[in-house]
Amino acid sequence: MEKIVMKTPLVEMDGDEMTRILWQMIKDELLLPFVDLKTEYYDLGLEERDRTDDKVTEDAANAIMKYGVGVKCATITPNPARVTEYGLKKMYKSPNGTLRAMLDGTVFRAPIIVKGIEPCVKNWKKPITIARHAYGDVYKNTELHVDGPGKAELVFTAADGTETRKTIFEFDGPGVVQGVYNIDESILSFARSCFAYALDRKEDLWFSTKDTISKTYDREFKEIFEQVYENEFKERFEEAGITFFYTLIDDAVARIMKCDGGLVWACKNYDGDVFSDMLSSAFGSLAMMTSVLVSPKGFYEYEAAHGTVQRHYYKHLKGEATSTNSVATIFAWSGALRKRGELDELPELVRFADALEKACLSTIEEGVMTGDLVRITTLSNVRQVGSLEFIQEIRKRLEKLL
Ligand code: NAP
Ligand code: MG
Repeated sequence: MEKIVMKTPLVEMDGDEMTRILWQMIKDELLLPFVDLKTEYYDLGLEERDRTDDKVTEDAANAIMKYGVGVKCATITPNPARVTEYGLKKMYKSPNGTLRAMLDGTVFRAPIIVKGIEPCVKNWKKPITIARHAYGDVYKNTELHVDGPGKAELVFTAADGTETRKTIFEFDGPGVVQGVYNIDESILSFARSCFAYALDRKEDLWFSTKDTISKTYDREFKEIFEQVYENEFKERFEEAGITFFYTLIDDAVARIMKCDGGLVWACKNYDGDVFSDMLSSAFGSLAMMTSVLVSPKGFYEYEAAHGTVQRHYYKHLKGEATSTNSVATIFAWSGALRKRGELDELPELVRFADALEKACLSTIEEGVMTGDLVRITTLSNVRQVGSLEFIQEIRKRLEKLL
């Protein structure tokens, strides 16, 4: 078979620990034999981040802005233990945080649905993607403990010195008080990313807040979403046969439990934090969850939702066998290659991405899977395989499909 030719390079971001091992296996077994892989390589492994004072992460973000599509391996977010373990010059910020800040994007997390790994909610037949706004609100709050009687006020001093003042509460005794904020610019780019992503997937978009209670704060979110829809997306949504649906957060939660999936659910920061964990757990496994950062300017960065699987890596270093699931990382590659194929009008690259995903699913559906899935599958007669063998089993099926 002739290798599929690419036009524009993908921005390839290597990472850490077990996922770095999988990364190389995936390239050797599933990509390089079939695709004349063009990538611009950035090593976001912790050692290289330390050597370059984390400049390599910034360079990678700039490359994504140049080429449009990136694929990223899981990386270590340093904590004090990692600073000691790797002898780091400093406790670097999370690469994902740096990329998100530079690309100004929204992260979408979607489960990979496969027969044999059944969601806890039995009517969920299609994926539910969560889009979490990742700016402001309670994550950037200012809080006070109130020790005794007194008045708490909200004061805004405009640039010209004008003061606006509202009483929050007159305390008779001890309590707590909290201030939070958000900015229109961020809400606007969040809204645009969500509409663009739903359109890309041809799925309905839901958005939920608590605007009946929060008549100014949450209403700002609601109105911005409605304006973006009316002014920028309505026609394209209608053409694609999809809808935008706004509802209260509690109503959205109730409806999610009854729906059959196939939608994108945009959530405010806190709601997204809580419900993305609920969804990934209910869909079965973190190792079957993809994640893509979509910027309002149309840049895409694909990755797995899980981390570097540190515990498996330590086993691997000791020479012990591992059974680490590579599906989410493979789907990061297929997602990025498909997007590249669409942007560069390379239908054979899109077909390759489809075949690669199909090969992953049929491997599992035929009962060949890694330990994490063996523990939760509803299939009988399953065979647990090691990290490399799993990828080789996928390769066998991929070769047949191609
Ligand atoms: P993790 O890597 O997601 O793994 C947690 C546990 O989940 C594993 O020990 C394993 O359970 C299971 N698991 C996750 N992915 C799996 C897979 N592909 N196959 C099989 N089992 C899988 O989280 P962590 O151990 O808390 O974090 C490790 C490092 O990852 C940290 O340094 C953190 O900073 C980083 N991290 C990076 C990202 C990112 O780059 N996006 C995201 C999250 C965390 P068992 O051990 O029970 O088998
Ligand atoms: Mg959380």
